[in-house]
Amino acid sequence: MKDSTRAVEAGRDPTLQAGSVNPPVHHTSTVVFPTYEDLKGVARIRKGDGVTYAVHGTPTTYALERALTALELGIDPAEVGASGHRTRLTNTGLQGVTVPMLCVLSAGDHLLVPDSVYGETREFVFGMLTRFGVEAEVYDPLIGGGIREHMRPNTRLVLVESPGSWTFEVQDIPAIAEVAHAHGALVMLDNTWATPLYLKPFELGVDISMQALTKYVGGHADILMGSVTATKEVYDRYLQPGWAQIGTSASPDDAYLALRGLRSMPLRLAEHGRSGLAVAEWLMARDEVAEVIHPAMPHDPGHALWQRDFTGAGSLFAIVLEERYSGETQVGAFLDRLRHFAMGFSWGSYQSMALPIRPERARKLTPWPKPGRAAGRVIRLYVGLEDVDDLTADLAEGFRAMRAV
Ligand SMILES: *Cc1c(COP(=O)(O)O)cnc(C)c1O
Repeated sequence: MKDSTRAVEAGRDPTLQAGSVNPPVHHTSTVVFPTYEDLKGVARIRKGDGVTYAVHGTPTTYALERALTALELGIDPAEVGASGHRTRLTNTGLQGVTVPMLCVLSAGDHLLVPDSVYGETREFVFGMLTRFGVEAEVYDPLIGGGIREHMRPNTRLVLVESPGSWTFEVQDIPAIAEVAHAHGALVMLDNTWATPLYLKPFELGVDISMQALTKYVGGHADILMGSVTATKEVYDRYLQPGWAQIGTSASPDDAYLALRGLRSMPLRLAEHGRSGLAVAEWLMARDEVAEVIHPAMPHDPGHALWQRDFTGAGSLFAIVLEERYSGETQVGAFLDRLRHFAMGFSWGSYQSMALPIRPERARKLTPWPKPGRAAGRVIRLYVGLEDVDDLTADLAEGFRAMRAV
């Protein structure tokens, strides 16, 4: 079975759903038990897919979790139970990062995060986690096996995010995982950019894989949700008790929407990937653009690793403007003229987005701009499902407005 078939078939069984194609939406908090004997079995039932109280899961959320496990592992829906891996949901994508960290880490543990990490993850790591006594350290995302220099006896977790938020560095995940495991540390991946369709984390040695379902899985800018998939050992030891203690869950309507999004995700992502590359190639030829940062393009420094580990590309990338077009009013004129690229946070839906970003303000360790590379303003672009010609015409209009300043 291939991923598009898995995306269609996983997480539903019409014979258990009164014949309906889709699983029902279970609106519930409370679950009642017919007998005292049943009530006494709660702890055991809760460890599996049993329904005991909605905080711990409902048939709707379990359906989504099973479907995501099939895709993260690249296995058929029927094999999900036997795999031992489990997926759990969170209220937001950000909680998909923070909750497993709270489950795994203790005061005195050492945590490594790449310098290209998602901004809110960085805030959490150097805010709350540090306040709770975790020693957090930033590393160069391009370090690969050199991460061994940063390992300490108390290193418990190495976070990877590939490509990185904003600056899109592709990380050598297998090299990092090998060193981390040799030192007894776990590896957690933020897989939001590629989704499990284009990167299979567990084949690369990852122990915990999360994604913001808010983005490509939801796909329609109408839900917030995260998912966390882990090996059996990590799930049983850390995530299962952690989820029960923290009490994050997902709304049944939103879980239903995420499942609906999943069905068409392979098709949407293929189109996003193609259009994203077409727009990026068009941008390469523009005078206003000093650099296009997109790992699926041959000139990109991360291209070889991307080719080795990924089977496709997301449509989120960045451009660096020529310095002579990087003034505040020029950037403003460009952004204000765009009609199809909307300004705002988040991405992953059908609509294209543009966002001016300042990597130099986020970095702690590695310099931005990179030595020898363009120093202009950086604009993050997300390519949605509009026609490519309309999008490039839109950008051309934006550049015209920029040049007129
Ligand atoms: C958006 C995003 C998140 C957080 O998701 P939210 O649902 O917005 O909280 C985490 N990691 C990455 C890489 C993201 O792009």
